[in-house]
Amino acid sequence: MRDGHGLSADEIRKKYKGYKELGELLRDLVKASPPWQVRAQGHGVRIYCPCGDPEHTLSVPSTPRDDANAAKRVRRFAERCHS
Ligand SMILES: [Zn+2]
Repeated sequence: MRDGHGLSADEIRKKYKGYKELGELLRDLVKASPPWQVRAQGHGVRIYCPCGDPEHTLSVPSTPRDDANAAKRVRRFAERCHS
């Protein structure tokens, strides 16, 4: 999958198979209104906030050590947006 490719909810489910919490959270983000973007980056992904702030992006590894901790980190980051 080439870098920059925007992943659908289905692609996220496949990619994060085995990471229940993280996979569900990422799918919730792409289904949110307005939606976040989850783009392929290396082996993992980078998420982009709909606010458009160039600094409001986060890279997420493809095989985090701990599913719950990875999900918590992404959730905290997503909630930090105040726009
Ligand atoms: Zn934001």
